[in-house]
Amino acid sequence: MAEPHIELRNVYRTVTRQAGTSVRSEILRGVNLNVLKGELITIMGPSGAGKSTLLRLINRLTEADSGTILLDSANIKDYDPRELRRRVGMVFQIPVVFKGSVRDNLAFGTKLWNTDADIEALAAEAAIPGELMDADAAHLSVGEKQRVCIARALANKPEALLLDEPTSALDKASAEKVESLLLRLQSERHLTMLWVTHDQAQARRISRHNYVLEDGKLREEHG
Ligand code: ADP
Repeated sequence: MAEPHIELRNVYRTVTRQAGTSVRSEILRGVNLNVLKGELITIMGPSGAGKSTLLRLINRLTEADSGTILLDSANIKDYDPRELRRRVGMVFQIPVVFKGSVRDNLAFGTKLWNTDADIEALAAEAAIPGELMDADAAHLSVGEKQRVCIARALANKPEALLLDEPTSALDKASAEKVESLLLRLQSERHLTMLWVTHDQAQARRISRHNYVLEDGKLREEHG
């Protein structure tokens, strides 16, 4: 049996919601998950179920109350958080670009080891056309911004990507482009992907391993 790449064991997480008086609410109640290297799984579930929280736990943007999360069989707490986030990248629903051109965005944080040719290659890999490279990133369409964010995540040469509804802020044509880009990257780079979506048709189209997070528990959907 193959070793899991990312594994969650009995993970709990409580949040304090402010609703007049603050209410403690256990949103993850013993979540277990095994994702193999190069596997793409989807996570669906009602709004507020804790899907984003679950992803954010995996690269330590937030912390579990109890339970264990493993990357390559080692506790994620034993990694330097920067190293963890390099290996496990994240793409959000709303793409956020930095000030400057598309080229500046791709060079950001990678200047020390990426040459101009590397940056061009990165753009090509994320299907960013050459004529956009010197455009102001703030003026891109949302779909183009999302491709810039994906390219930035790729610059770190990740092994895994956490995708938090990466296509749901996009129009249909851009969503299709970003979906096929991510699927191509997954197969070419053998990336492990945890992909949160509210679109059941998308979940079925992109993976045979579909999970639902509901009432604090993660269960695999069959059929
Ligand atoms: P989903 O992605 O499934 O819509 P989230 O993980 O974004 O759900 O949020 C789950 C619930 O936890 C929501 O009610 C949200 O407001 C709450 N929540 C998430 N993180 C925090 C936090 N750090 N502090 C307080 N409440 C939070």
